[in-house]
Amino acid sequence: MCGIFGYVGKSINAARLTYFGLYALQHRGQESSGITVSDGKTLKTYKGMGLVAQVYNEAHLEKLKGPMAIGHNRYSTYAGSFFEHTQPFTGEENIVALAHNGNLPDTRKLIEFLNLKGFKTEGCSDSRLMHITITHFLRKGASLEEAIKQAFPLFVGAFCLLVMTKDKIAATRDQFGIRPLSIGTTNDGFVFASETCSLDTVNAKFIRDVNPGEMVVIEKGKLRSYQIAPPKQNLDIFEFVYFSRPDSTLLGKRVYKVRRNLGKELAKENPIKADVVMPVPDSSLPAAVGYASTIKLPLEFGLVKNRYLGRTFIMPDQKLRDRGVQMNMNTIKEVINGKNVVVIDDSIVRGTTIKKLIRNIREAGAKKVHLLSSCPPIRYPDFYGIDTPIQKNLIAAQMSIKDIEKFVGADSLYYLSYKGLIKATELQEDVFCTSCFTGNYPIDIGDHKNGIRFDV
Ligand code: 5GP
Ligand code: MG
Repeated sequence: MCGIFGYVGKSINAARLTYFGLYALQHRGQESSGITVSDGKTLKTYKGMGLVAQVYNEAHLEKLKGPMAIGHNRYSTYAGSFFEHTQPFTGEENIVALAHNGNLPDTRKLIEFLNLKGFKTEGCSDSRLMHITITHFLRKGASLEEAIKQAFPLFVGAFCLLVMTKDKIAATRDQFGIRPLSIGTTNDGFVFASETCSLDTVNAKFIRDVNPGEMVVIEKGKLRSYQIAPPKQNLDIFEFVYFSRPDSTLLGKRVYKVRRNLGKELAKENPIKADVVMPVPDSSLPAAVGYASTIKLPLEFGLVKNRYLGRTFIMPDQKLRDRGVQMNMNTIKEVINGKNVVVIDDSIVRGTTIKKLIRNIREAGAKKVHLLSSCPPIRYPDFYGIDTPIQKNLIAAQMSIKDIEKFVGADSLYYLSYKGLIKATELQEDVFCTSCFTGNYPIDIGDHKNGIRFDV
């Protein structure tokens, strides 16, 4: 995933504001964080592994003085978690900083271009390849705008980029707009953020999204826009299902409301006679509210999450994941004991998290456990920036719903229908990328196609 944030203003506190912006985007990436600031003459960067709260202290921010900054929280979709993959990238020359959210599934054209120009590309992430390309055009004398325009056709995939030289910031988005990127204003400047929740944090006013295929440049306090590729909006619908914060808006819709609608649709499709509805915190809270209010069952918080632990999904290997789940979630016996419970989760990916949870819920004395997923079965891998690139790890690509029900240990299992999902967004199907549910990939995924079974 990743979260990106940029700030251009008049005060010298751009880095500090970026720090607050990144704090509000922590859910989009917890592996590393970095900020590059410009004082108009040079770029200065500070990066580190871990959460925003662990990476920076007062002394670091004190050294990052200047009116322009970009920042990045990383969630790895490539090559795991290492310091050399932390962003923003600045390269040896330190003439341009780049922060990327998304993923390029097909880098063949880009690598071919760079190799032809004599660059080594081995071991480079897609984001670094983009940085090398833009640096190359800048070095040839192009302006930042020209450099991005020339590089743009070489980038095949999902990308939201913040690119900063010593005197300007450019924000650009792939022509499908797979990942979100918004623009806000403050009383002295402009803000870019992956999600609107972080505009609120720095008291910026949302003005609009960066359009798919658009490049927005801020220089000397002025905003200029260039449409560099024809727009075709295909926002990843999984942003509504899971990724974005409920207090953000995407395509003009509050994520909270869409998630509550998911629960309402789920209730219309699968009204279950039970004693109590329980969300799996935190991401399925709004859906559980929608479900419980629609079928008029009590909503109870029988599962409690330790909010100071990272998401279990983030932990790199299965062993750690297994342990993570137990550390992460506890049950409240009085809520569960002797009850027929409806458990609502936002999504089932591998199925390992919910399997353990259901075991815990049974141990707490549940009579029956009905599991409901507020999104349809995830059968296709993602190549646009979510960490699910292997189809065989997706339980719904491997098993029938009945078999999943057995595997996770539920008395019954229901998924929201695809139609219900679209309906809940109150938007048209064609503004979304729905590849993880449908296998329809709007951007070419290159060789990855060969590894996918489309008949699941
Ligand atoms: P799994 O089925 O793989 O054990 O985990 C599913 C759970 O992980 C769901 O409860 C959902 O909230 C969360 N989840 C779904 N997709 C993602 C993702 O891409 N990244 C992270 N960190 N968590 C996810
Ligand atoms: Mg979850």
